[in-house]
Formats: sequence, structure tokens, C-alpha cells
Amino acid sequence: MKTIFNFVIMLLVILGLGITFSKYHQSSDLKKQADLLMEQGKTQEAIIMYEQARGVFPWRQDVVNDLEGAQLVLQSDLDYGQIYQIGAETQILPPLSILPSINKLQPNEIFVPILMYHHIRVNPRPGSPVWASLNLTPDQLNSQLQYLTSHGYQTISLDELYLALTKNTPLPSLPIVLTFDDGYRTFYDSVFPLLKKYKVKAVEFVITQVEGAPAYLTWDQIMEIDASGLVQWGAHTRHHPNLPDLSTAAITNEIKGSKADLELHLKKPITWFAYPYGSYNNFIVQTVQDSGFVGAVSTIYGAAQSKDKLYLAPRIMVDGRFSLAEFITRIQK
Ligand SMILES: [Zn+2]
Repeated sequence: MKTIFNFVIMLLVILGLGITFSKYHQSSDLKKQADLLMEQGKTQEAIIMYEQARGVFPWRQDVVNDLEGAQLVLQSDLDYGQIYQIGAETQILPPLSILPSINKLQPNEIFVPILMYHHIRVNPRPGSPVWASLNLTPDQLNSQLQYLTSHGYQTISLDELYLALTKNTPLPSLPIVLTFDDGYRTFYDSVFPLLKKYKVKAVEFVITQVEGAPAYLTWDQIMEIDASGLVQWGAHTRHHPNLPDLSTAAITNEIKGSKADLELHLKKPITWFAYPYGSYNNFIVQTVQDSGFVGAVSTIYGAAQSKDKLYLAPRIMVDGRFSLAEFITRIQK
């Protein structure tokens, strides 16, 4: 009797193991298909597949992690979709070997690096070079600010740069401007605490009509940051379109409108503009001038600023793949 009992138990165990193994195997197949879909950029379909993989075998932490990662990517795609339809706001970075020729100043130029940042967060899509370049972790930014503040760099606003270029007002010996594009929520979560920690100034270029999209700053957050006096606000259109694709009326609305939106909330003049994707033409530059902006930043690489380039001020994109050493080299004269 006992032997039969043991035999039955053993049979059940083997059966159980068999089912478990087959379920695990099934979930692995689903996970593999989902991974493939992620690689092809089919995030929504991948999520369904990961959910199925979790359904057949709910105890796999790797599948749960993949699912959460895919959901994060999908949310980012929805929030930042516009940007990736056109191609991101990146910059072709010249190799370090040719920097000295780029940094050579003309008599009317001054050397003021305007750094360009986007997302300060852990990159949700490490496999993509575009994402790797646009995302810096808070730790990376912390190291850079620590370097700047301990090596004599002093952050200035773009208004201070404007006064130096047009009225010859004196600047600190190592001036630098920190600009952040698009007004992402991570500016409130990750950048603002560091600005306060190091007592440094920054400029944030806001897209003014993206209310409700969770990736972007709320007006309440903008007002809270503004009260610190550390941040100059710039306009970055109402909806972040590729301006050259629009009608002249729509271009004017995007440029003038974003200035008006910011001034309505902040109750002070908004003086600088940033071109979405760095895209511009003569009409766009003229409209920026006619709208009352004193300057505009571009995505043209460089740090030589002059009165002649006020509406196409060059910047240096801080790439998420920079080492601290490369960051230091690129901001040096
Ligand atoms: Zn932008």
C-alpha cells in the first residue's frame, strides 16, 4: 500500500515538474518573440506578448522586468512621439581632434559654452544610440556640476550673455550656460534638486501647450521652480513642430504664441527662443526677431558667441555617452 502511495506521489511530482517545465518553455518562446518585437520597435505588440508570457508562467522576474521596461518605452513613445517622428534633437559632434580649430575665436567673439541637455534620467532604451545620446543619469549631471563648480566655472543666464555681447557688461572668467530643452518632468524631479545643491543657474526651454502629457512639467512645477530664481525660461514653440514644414501663419502662432503663453503664466518677459530640432529658415529667424526675442539658441556645434550670431547661438550637446573627461575637453577653450 505504502509503495503504491509513494509511486503515486512520485508520478504526481514528475507530472508536476513536466507541466512546470513545459509552461516555462512556453513562456520562454513568448518572451523571445516579444524581445524580437521590441527590437523591431513594435512596443505595443511586444507588451501583449510579454503579458502572455507572464500569464503562462507568472513566477519569472525577468519577464516582469521586460514587461515593465516595455511599458516605460511605450509611455515615452507616446509622450515624446512627435520628436521621434522627425528625428531627435541631436547634434553631429565633431571629433575631439578638431576642437581647437572650432574653438579659435574671431575678434568679435567670446568663448561661452552653452550646454544642451534633454532628459536627465536612466535611459529607458539603452540599445538605441539616439536615446543613449539624449539621456543622462542624474549621477552624470551631478558629476558634471560638481566639476564645474569646483573648477571656477560660473553659470550665467542667456540674458547675461546677451548683455555681455551687446553692452559689454563683464562676465565671470569661466562663464557657462546650462540649457535644457523641451521642459520635461525630469527637470523638476532630477535637475532642480541639483541646481539648488550646487546653486547654479539654468535655462529651460518649454513647449507651452502639452498640458496633461505626463512627460512634461506642469505650470505648478514651473512656478515652484521659478520662485527659486535659478532658472530662466525660454520658449520652444507651443507643440514642438518642425517649423519649416508649417505655413507662415502657423509658424508665427507657434513662435509668438509660446512667448505669450509663458509670459501669461510667469508675468515677465521671455527673451530667448530655441528652434525645435534646430530647424530654421530665414522666415523663422525673422519671426523670432519680430516677436521680440533678443536671441535664439541653435543646435549648431560651438562655443564662440557673438552679436552677429544672437539668433543662431551655437551650443554643445552633452551626450549621455560622454565620459567626464570628454565633457571637460569639450567645454575648454
Ligand atoms: Zn525640443
